[in-house]
Amino acid sequence: MRYAIISDIHANYDALEAVLASLDDIGYDLLVCLGDVVGYGAEPNECAEALRDRNARVLAGNHDHAAIGLLNLEFFNEFARIAALWTRDALTPENAEWLKNAPFVEHYSSFVVTHSTLHSPEHFDYILALMDAKMSFDLLDKPVCFVGHSHMAMTFFSTDPVTYSMDDVFEVSDDCRMIVNVGSVGQPRDEDPRASFALYDEEEGTVKLHRVEYDVMQAAQKILRAGLPEILAFRLFQGR
Ligand code: ZN
Repeated sequence: MRYAIISDIHANYDALEAVLASLDDIGYDLLVCLGDVVGYGAEPNECAEALRDRNARVLAGNHDHAAIGLLNLEFFNEFARIAALWTRDALTPENAEWLKNAPFVEHYSSFVVTHSTLHSPEHFDYILALMDAKMSFDLLDKPVCFVGHSHMAMTFFSTDPVTYSMDDVFEVSDDCRMIVNVGSVGQPRDEDPRASFALYDEEEGTVKLHRVEYDVMQAAQKILRAGLPEILAFRLFQGR
């Protein structure tokens, strides 16, 4: 099986289209989205429907939960809160219901997926420091765990102590487990504005992180036209 792993689309349909076109070129068997389909961007329904059309598996993200009233907005900054309330109004009942049914964690034969962490997925903590990764490694019984949430593509290894790498190709091994942050489709924050995603080839035993350019100007204009906070448009150009 070849798994396309994407995360943090954030209602950026221009970025999602570019990623899906790239995935069609590469070829894959199953699309898995690690959550935050919506929030920040101007096209939440388009993004949800594109994923549903492709029978994507979707995991619960904090912005998805905020948009459908399952997460208290006091945890959000002002811009995220405004976007969550805007998204709540914009989402169709079908798409809201689809997001509501997304699980926190899902297990596959050789990997596990979640939006934030394995050790407290429902709290949406971040895996940023090596200690955070260690807590999730303690619960990881498969060679690979894919996460999103921080919008920064990077990979942690279960060495002692835990190490990490910013490389984009990895061999899967039983000796050293990996937590792969696949980065963000619709709002990268690692100073590379291109959309990020991963391709996991189970037979070949490789994980490859990809970046693809998309029409940032178009996505930004849609955010401004929707009346969403300007900063949400401008940050897309910087990848921050
Ligand atoms: Zn996110």
